[in-house]
Amino acid sequence: MSFLTHLECAMCGQELEADRLWNLCPTCYKPLLARYDLEQASRALTREEIGNREASLWRYRELLPVRAPRYALCLGEGFTPLVHATRLGQAACPELHRRGGFAGLFIKNEELNPTGTFKARGLAVAVSRAWELGVEAVSIASSGNAGGAMSAYAALAGMGAYLVMPRDVQQSFLAECRALGAEITLVDGLITDCTRMAAHEAQKFGRFDVSTLKEPYRLEGKKTGLRAGRAIGLDLARRHHLSHRRRHWPDRDMEGLRRAGEAGLDRAGATAYGYGPGRGLRADGQSFPRGSGICPALAWMQHHR
Ligand SMILES: [Zn+2]
Repeated sequence: MSFLTHLECAMCGQELEADRLWNLCPTCYKPLLARYDLEQASRALTREEIGNREASLWRYRELLPVRAPRYALCLGEGFTPLVHATRLGQAACPELHRRGGFAGLFIKNEELNPTGTFKARGLAVAVSRAWELGVEAVSIASSGNAGGAMSAYAALAGMGAYLVMPRDVQQSFLAECRALGAEITLVDGLITDCTRMAAHEAQKFGRFDVSTLKEPYRLEGKKTGLRAGRAIGLDLARRHHLSHRRRHWPDRDMEGLRRAGEAGLDRAGATAYGYGPGRGLRADGQSFPRGSGICPALAWMQHHR
């Protein structure tokens, strides 16, 4: 079961009922965040139980917003491997490598997600939750990957899928989305023009817009990238054969992720965002990343040298 309790505006803090459809905060039109009863979750969950579950992001279902298991759309998303990039750091920056800064550089291979990118995480959860709340058609502004992911999960649910894409989008994305049954509108403009049109058409035709930061639940899928694993004490390090280094990721390693999150709320940001609930589960405080623009690797090095 989900321990989702309510939604909260990231800007003004207004709390909203979780079990009805919202796009943005009705007061200030900023993104909404899902909130959970972390105290209850920490009592109900054990590391062993989570560790024995299926190899998909739905293993963290108590910290995801979908309440009824039958609405959890699954194509095998999440639970991607961590690859120890033993030589990449050296090539990227010999000086930092000489100082030992990249000895622990790992890459999470997100192309093993069902639609080939991390976008599958966010769209799996967002489309599932929309389906659970009665949505029959979803729409998105996309220049490729997110559109493909939304189309796949909408097809799985039997929902309508409407995409607004720039006219110069790669043909392979068009082919993918059309094969998945999506209806595509091409726009002579940038992704921002597509975003405006998707929002307008969603309102006009009664679709639910899942464009970036236009609804609360894509972030919930993205946060599973790493942090949900730590949130419940799952030993990702051991899972990925890193036990020769350490069995638990110390907080200072997570500082790099947090700083990455400061650069925005896409993949790295959502991963850092997932760190918040993780700290909450351990009865610590939680912080939310804010946009400032930063180079996460260099910032981490400066902080720890
Ligand atoms: Zn607000």
